[in-house]
Amino acid sequence: MIKFIGKGVCGAVAIGKISLFKRNNIKIESVKVDDKEYELNRFEKAKQSALVQLEEIYNKALAEAGEDNAQIFEIHMMMIEDEDYNDAITDMISSQGFNAEYAVSSASNSFAEMFSSMDDDYMQARAADVRDISDRIISCLTDSKTEQLSTEDKLIICADDLAPSETISLDKNKVLAFVTAYGSSNSHTAILAKSMNIPAIIGVGEEFLEKIEDGQSAIADGFSGELIVIPDSETVSFYENKLKEDNAKNEALKNLRGKENITLDGTRIDIFANIGSVKNVDKVLENDAGGIGLFRSEFLYLENSDFPTEEEQFTAYKNVLEEMSGKKVIIRTMDIGADKQADYFNLDKEDNPALGLRAIRICLTRPEIFITQLRALYRASIYGNLGIMFPMITSVKEIEEILEICKQVKSELDNENINYSDKVELGIMIETPAAAIISDKLAPLVDFFSVGTNDLIQYTLACDRQNSHLERFCDTHHEAILRLIEISAKNAHSNGAWIGICGELAADTTLTERFLRMGIDELSVSPSFVLKVRDKVRQIDLK
Ligand code: PEP
Ligand code: MG
Repeated sequence: MIKFIGKGVCGAVAIGKISLFKRNNIKIESVKVDDKEYELNRFEKAKQSALVQLEEIYNKALAEAGEDNAQIFEIHMMMIEDEDYNDAITDMISSQGFNAEYAVSSASNSFAEMFSSMDDDYMQARAADVRDISDRIISCLTDSKTEQLSTEDKLIICADDLAPSETISLDKNKVLAFVTAYGSSNSHTAILAKSMNIPAIIGVGEEFLEKIEDGQSAIADGFSGELIVIPDSETVSFYENKLKEDNAKNEALKNLRGKENITLDGTRIDIFANIGSVKNVDKVLENDAGGIGLFRSEFLYLENSDFPTEEEQFTAYKNVLEEMSGKKVIIRTMDIGADKQADYFNLDKEDNPALGLRAIRICLTRPEIFITQLRALYRASIYGNLGIMFPMITSVKEIEEILEICKQVKSELDNENINYSDKVELGIMIETPAAAIISDKLAPLVDFFSVGTNDLIQYTLACDRQNSHLERFCDTHHEAILRLIEISAKNAHSNGAWIGICGELAADTTLTERFLRMGIDELSVSPSFVLKVRDKVRQIDLK
């Protein structure tokens, strides 16, 4: 039995098998080889393995997702066999004597660049595909001996760190827990783990990955932050009991479904839920949230290998609105940038991406992306009760520009005789100290504020939310944070706007009373926290 300690970011326990997360961004070195025949043979074998994998994926996709979705894997198989692509690789091996990994990676880069520079959208999208097939061949070249876990296993995913795009691409039905060497509790991966209500342990330290193996049995305790590998039978039965107790507590909370969010003295508050995908709406309804306080629309962009079209977005927003049957749905315009990167945005590499071109800054710099999203949102607005929220605001000027673009979008829709609701509320996130400090100037321009405490903490305390070494400097209850929220609440109310909190602090029940006393109107939390917060609210007496 070996124990590792990190920080638990989602209070739950998982008992399962370890799966070491494999990533294909292996560092490729250029090496000159003596035996070119051998190297050509390695490439050929890796290519055949990649084709076998793709065929399996194609069949699975065909059965589970239909022909349209499976087609891409057929295209990948064809691309792997493409003569020019193969010639480029074999030529680098046989005439220039490079190792197979380097030859594949170079061919990948030059073909991807060639596709990206084409005018045609379809061809541009092939750049991601050529990278994908090349990564697959490289992983077959470097990782061919990796034992695969049986499909029945429920897995505790262990990784150095996980990007949000990596987290969402994992098969949720098989993931029991995340354990990462690095990471911080405010990172999007931690937030995703919470929204999936699975235990997550972060900051275990990189050496843990060297001491564990794929397939070992393990327990992840998201309360204490412990990862116990090869637990003895006594420990297993202790945790099995704990799991039973947790399940019983969660069952008891279900009795609060249908009950009001009201304090003992009669103060009411809305408790909404945060989601990142249309698929999460089930959880919102199951946990009886009063609405959706934050739909992180950027996940639509992260799940795609190209910009989601107006039609794709419209369908996603319409589905959420319809499923919520008239309850409030606040959709945040995309917050790409910083830790949420999508290659096809082709953003420049930045020294300080959290302080860089992200969120509304991309939208105002590249209005065509923004307009497509706003058109989809307004078109969907007739199917429910929509609020649109804008992230990373720092100034009055930004809001004025946004409002002008919204006006243009609506007049375009008018000209095209396309309906939209005239009741769409517009709001901004308060997630920079600047926005909180000038909230008296911002409030008259909008219908609501929603405090993004994850970023507000990062920017106020100068603590990168991705940096696991800063946990002890990152006091989430810092008086500066609470005062900024209080100032924003006062300014919202004195200007006729309402105010919610949608960052992770909204679910911190040690602060619920303080938020109620500030007059916060809404708390938006991961679906699995809705009933816990309701339980807390119902025990508070503000008199
Ligand atoms: C926040 O910053 O608190 C927030 C809700 O937005 P995100 O976590 O997606 O940056
Ligand atoms: Mg934020």
